[in-house]
Amino acid sequence: MRALLARFLQLMRALLSCLLQGEVFLLFEQTPFGVVFCGGGPAAIGPIIAAARTGRLDDLLNRGIALIEPGPIGPGGFAHHRIAANSLGGPFLECLDDLDGTPFAALRELPETRALRALADVHPPLSVVASFLARLGAVVSDLLQAHPRCRSVSSTVVGLRLAADTVHVATADGGRLHADRVVIASGGRPLSDFAGAEIVPGLSLAPHRAKVWHSEAFIDARRRAPAARGKVVIVGGSHSAWSVADLILSDVDELTVVHRSGIRLFYRGVEQARSDGYLFDPVRDVCPASGRVNRYGGLRGRAFELARAALGLAGPGPRPVRLVHVDGPESRPAAERAFADADLIVMANGFEAALPPISYADGTPLIAAVGPTGTVVTATGHLVDVRGNVHPNLLAYGLGAGLAPSAEVGGEPSYTRRADGVWLYQYDIGRIVLDDLLHTATTSGEIHA
Ligand SMILES: Cc1cc2nc3c(=O)[nH]c(=O)nc-3n(C[C@H](O)[C@H](O)[C@H](O)COP(=O)(O)OP(=O)(O)OC[C@H]3O[C@@H](n4cnc5c(N)ncnc54)[C@H](O)[C@@H]3O)c2cc1C
Repeated sequence: MRALLARFLQLMRALLSCLLQGEVFLLFEQTPFGVVFCGGGPAAIGPIIAAARTGRLDDLLNRGIALIEPGPIGPGGFAHHRIAANSLGGPFLECLDDLDGTPFAALRELPETRALRALADVHPPLSVVASFLARLGAVVSDLLQAHPRCRSVSSTVVGLRLAADTVHVATADGGRLHADRVVIASGGRPLSDFAGAEIVPGLSLAPHRAKVWHSEAFIDARRRAPAARGKVVIVGGSHSAWSVADLILSDVDELTVVHRSGIRLFYRGVEQARSDGYLFDPVRDVCPASGRVNRYGGLRGRAFELARAALGLAGPGPRPVRLVHVDGPESRPAAERAFADADLIVMANGFEAALPPISYADGTPLIAAVGPTGTVVTATGHLVDVRGNVHPNLLAYGLGAGLAPSAEVGGEPSYTRRADGVWLYQYDIGRIVLDDLLHTATTSGEIHA
């Protein structure tokens, strides 16, 4: 009895000392979480919604989930994008149809949902999408807070350290968490050295570096873009490239888009594409799963209209944008002349994952592999380092690290970039990541550079 009392007093003294030193958080965090999500944007909440859709929410939450996000959970970068969505409003709401009987069902009649529903058949401003996603994120946050083994943490991950079976997670407010797995879904940043990138062999932006800006500077309201005047060249053929074109077109004297893989337009099927006079490869540009033409790489909405007009498919009349297709050595001089004459060059070559610093147990940094289309991950989203090692307890996907198109994710064979998008995070990619987290699928070692 006396020994028990002594042990009790010892514990109380330890607790008091931790309280005095503000370390109660450290004590609390000794129990490892099953999964820590680093970031709480559209990609991170995708597998949680996928779990709710497929009746596996309890399985996931019972593993112990912590989600660390400094801002509101749900909208991620969309909250700051000043462009319209490349998808219609409808697909953002599709998840609600499958969430009957879950806490998400209550979102149906909220004003943010109604505002998005009114734009179901058009490309809504991303700010409207962000408001809806913030409501989805609030439900995720409530679910985590209500569960005894889960938490939502309002902070930023500042470091990850790999130990034998655990990942140590450090947050900006001094918190320390331990997890069996960490899902890094903290968005993207421009690919390093975008301003000196080689576009095709022998054609580089390096000599023009001083006037090169990334597309993100124009799209993201948190960044400062230069005034677009005079002659402007945009490099790339993606939604970002054409969204910048749309934003600056009325301010410039001449706008040229330099692209290397053709202008890819989205059509619901091959007949629609043919009747529009659009030239495409009936095998490589068509998604075998959906029959869509350029399902992932195709432009939609305003970007589609602008690019279609530039191709001359909108009928006679001035083409708003000059196109330079660099598909061989003979087309390089035209691109070089455009770069030399330009007052401003906008590079739209995409993103790599904005990973927090990661180290091994001995403090050696883990350097993630980055390919031309972003951070390298396996078909199930496991992070790959520069030595080619696949990390079983680190997953990364979302902007800058999307999974490559596959039989499971669908997509046209000619698409060489990453599959990302809110619908995919909640459906195909969400399911792949969720299966992996719940160990119902075998982790694939296949690597996508
Ligand atoms: C210009 C553009 C337009 C797009 N339009 C569409 C579209 O119309 N439809 C569509 O479906 N997809 C679209 N996408 C693709 C994709 O769906 C979005 O980029 C989406 O925002 C990606 O979600 P994410 O969670 O990966 O990244 P983000 O949206 O960037 O979210 C990352 C989150 O992580 C947090 N975070 C960052 N660092 C840390 C850290 N160290 N610790 C903790 N938290 C951190 C951030 O605060 C943020 O909330 C678009 C992409 C771009 C670039």
